[in-house]
Amino acid sequence: MKGLMMNYQLTIPHILERANKLFYDSEVVTRKPDKSIVRYKYKDLYKRARALAKYLTNFGLSSGDRVATLMYNNYIHLEAYLGIPSAGFVLHTVNIRLHEDEIAYIINHAQDRILIIEDTLFPLLEKIEKKIKVEQIIVVPLKENNAPEEYIDYEAVVMKTDGKDFIYPDIQEDVAAGLCYTSGTTGKPKGVLYSHRAISLHALAISLPDVSNIKFSDTITPVVPMFHVNAWGFPFAMTMHGCKQVYPGPHLDAKSLLELYEKENVNLTVGVPTIWLTVVGELERKKYNLHKDFTFLVGGASAPQGLIKKILDLGYNVIHGWGMTETTPVGLTNTLRPEMKNLSNEEKSAHLIRQGTPLPFIEIKGMNENGEIPWDGKTMGELYIRGPWIASAYYGVEAPEKFMDGFFATGDIVIIDKKGYVKIVDRSKDLIKSGGEWISSVDLENALMSHNKVKEAAVIAYPHPVWQERPIAFIVIKEEEHLTEDELKEFLSQKFAKWWLPDYYIFIDEIPRTSAGKFLKRKLRDDLSKYLKDIGGL
Ligand code: ADP
Repeated sequence: MKGLMMNYQLTIPHILERANKLFYDSEVVTRKPDKSIVRYKYKDLYKRARALAKYLTNFGLSSGDRVATLMYNNYIHLEAYLGIPSAGFVLHTVNIRLHEDEIAYIINHAQDRILIIEDTLFPLLEKIEKKIKVEQIIVVPLKENNAPEEYIDYEAVVMKTDGKDFIYPDIQEDVAAGLCYTSGTTGKPKGVLYSHRAISLHALAISLPDVSNIKFSDTITPVVPMFHVNAWGFPFAMTMHGCKQVYPGPHLDAKSLLELYEKENVNLTVGVPTIWLTVVGELERKKYNLHKDFTFLVGGASAPQGLIKKILDLGYNVIHGWGMTETTPVGLTNTLRPEMKNLSNEEKSAHLIRQGTPLPFIEIKGMNENGEIPWDGKTMGELYIRGPWIASAYYGVEAPEKFMDGFFATGDIVIIDKKGYVKIVDRSKDLIKSGGEWISSVDLENALMSHNKVKEAAVIAYPHPVWQERPIAFIVIKEEEHLTEDELKEFLSQKFAKWWLPDYYIFIDEIPRTSAGKFLKRKLRDDLSKYLKDIGGL
């Protein structure tokens, strides 16, 4: 027997309409490139997002056409997040930190018809302009008052469109609203198309109390870029609940962020561990008057336990999240449950270091050569995942090995305990296989980063004639500290079996980063022979 329910589609226009009807007074705040603050209300957001939708429709785009954005986290990007999909087009957020050839490849591969770019990125535009095949370039004047004449000026032209009489097209929930490319750490970047339904359900799910507990009274700053997997879905979720939204623009240094949190009374901020390492460093140096329930949502890369503990020691809260471009992105989260409040910070951080349990409607399993792994907290396997916001294919690229039996194979190696808590042991390509046994680069890195003189550490495998692979550690020492290889060996041998200890320790000035601010181990691998030669190794 069929349930007698309406055939109601889960789409972005619903979020936009709701924003204006219920939350017209809520604020959107942005720090501009010149560091000044610009603020407006959701009613302005509504008007402008609809003006953009109307402009693009008048331009002659057809349903499903892609519009690229090259922007930092700001209110215009939010207008694009809501306006483009509400007109039935696809918001294609392009990662500004990729190499220019990769950016051009992505824009052409997606066949974007229009590009919206902020004027702070002119140096990038100059490099890609001749290589991309878009029909129109719209420039957002954030730094200057106007866009140069040869471009369409977002404010002068687009915002002149009166969106009042704009009528939403009929949108089915399973059509694409967004597009984002993986950053191509393995091979060419691959596109993932997000449906209206996936984005809507994901926004609801990340708002749940045991996930990130998003509510009307929140003031939230997404530091994770809006060009990286929809800023983890926060702009959609915040708009759905009417939160005050605070965007940092291009200023992501610790001082600028902390001043912004303080000034706007932010209570939740969202980003990768490498950014939080610098923010926590600054918090240890200087007192900031942050919200009493200030919370860091940390995700996107493995977070050192020392970082989580420091945040707790400073009196703030931590939520840990795991996700991928292919998973919209949030699949797992970990929070402190009320019954854990009497644990020590050491115990709390040992709990929070795990990536957590799956969100509702997300199913997981671990697979190894023997089939599905038991949930015993020790058997390792690759994490497989499925659910309503997990990709079922890449855009225009065949990858049957990643999509199996209705699951997506993540490439992350995990253990799962009997309550379903997942711990990422490593990415499959980063695990080190020494003499037939696995060594976790993540465990070694976390231990190294818990040393009080170590600022950053990355561990990779190097090919070994006898053991097949052996670990090698790259270390960044804290300013004005001194540290030797022997001290590190001694330190690690208190925690690990002797065969786990890295063969070499290479001291460098900084660990190379990916475009999303994560450690770029591929670069260390590429340059390995040079490093080994420098220290007289193999
Ligand atoms: P990429 O890093 O390949 O450019 P993504 O941004 O999609 O692309 O990153 C997804 C990967 O990041 C995951 O497969 C996982 O290895 C890593 N990751 C994400 N969140 C976490 C986390 N909380 N802990 C450890 N690793 C994480």
